[in-house]
Amino acid sequence: MAKCPYCKLEVDFKNVERVKKGAGILMQEIMYVCPHCQSILGVSRGKYTG
Ligand SMILES: [Zn+2]
Repeated sequence: MAKCPYCKLEVDFKNVERVKKGAGILMQEIMYVCPHCQSILGVSRGKYTG
């Protein structure tokens, strides 16, 4: 359980929105978006295969 630094509401990473970005499989980023205020909490890069 974590708190959103923007709206101070509790954010469960099971409920957090994951937005996939990227044109293909090789360049894919997953953005974690707060479900309360839609702020971007973080970005994690997908695996680079090959
Ligand atoms: Zn928030």
